[in-house]
Amino acid sequence: MSELQQQIAGNVTRVREQIDAAARRSGRDPRSIRLVAVTKYVGLNEVLALLDARCFELGESRPQELWKKVDAISHPHVQWHMIGHLQRNKVRRTLPAVRLVHSCDSLRLLQTIDTEAGRDAHVIPVLLEVNVAGDTAKHGFSPDELASLLPTIADLRHIKVHGLMGMAARGSDRVTARPYFVRLRELRDRLSGIGVPGIQMEELSMGMSGDFETAIEEGATIVRVGKTLFSGGP
Ligand SMILES: *Cc1c(COP(=O)(O)O)cnc(C)c1O
Repeated sequence: MSELQQQIAGNVTRVREQIDAAARRSGRDPRSIRLVAVTKYVGLNEVLALLDARCFELGESRPQELWKKVDAISHPHVQWHMIGHLQRNKVRRTLPAVRLVHSCDSLRLLQTIDTEAGRDAHVIPVLLEVNVAGDTAKHGFSPDELASLLPTIADLRHIKVHGLMGMAARGSDRVTARPYFVRLRELRDRLSGIGVPGIQMEELSMGMSGDFETAIEEGATIVRVGKTLFSGGP
């Protein structure tokens, strides 16, 4: 094993242990939490090292970078996640490459995905991104508008909503991030309580390198971890 492979394998093991520990202390089954390794800062060597470490769910935040990596890597187990803002003119090329779009942040984007997916009679699994931090620089639905939009979203037959995605406010740490995760979980519970046919709310995609353990304690089913998987040293 190269030094890079060893370093990344060690980081993956550590993060998986932290995920398991956070799940156990909140009375959850560790297997109910998926790790998406975010590769936006790194190149192909690091991606291959992740695959060697049996990290098969990978996330990218920029469509062009996603396409590049998808084209470069053919591996039977890889599953890509789109986690960043998706411009509508990039939808067509992105959809066939991904297993889940986390970052659906507007009705117009959802409608575009629906139209494109309809061409091939596909159904695209998506999450609705919520701007729980209320940060005007961030994308996402406002928590207040989602309930009234759900019936319209449910009418889009070529998308399938599986839950919500969100981020703590910029500059949060593992302590100060908690209220944002609570807010997203409570919103998820409220929306599933409404029970719009065709809308599922089983997934909560929340938690990054600095706060994924807190996110798991608050109910995350998918954590999106980048930076710490590539750090050096102990
Ligand atoms: C970059 C990014 C992450 C991972 O962040 P790290 O701090 O590197 O773990 C997670 N989610 C989204 C949407 C991102 O853009």
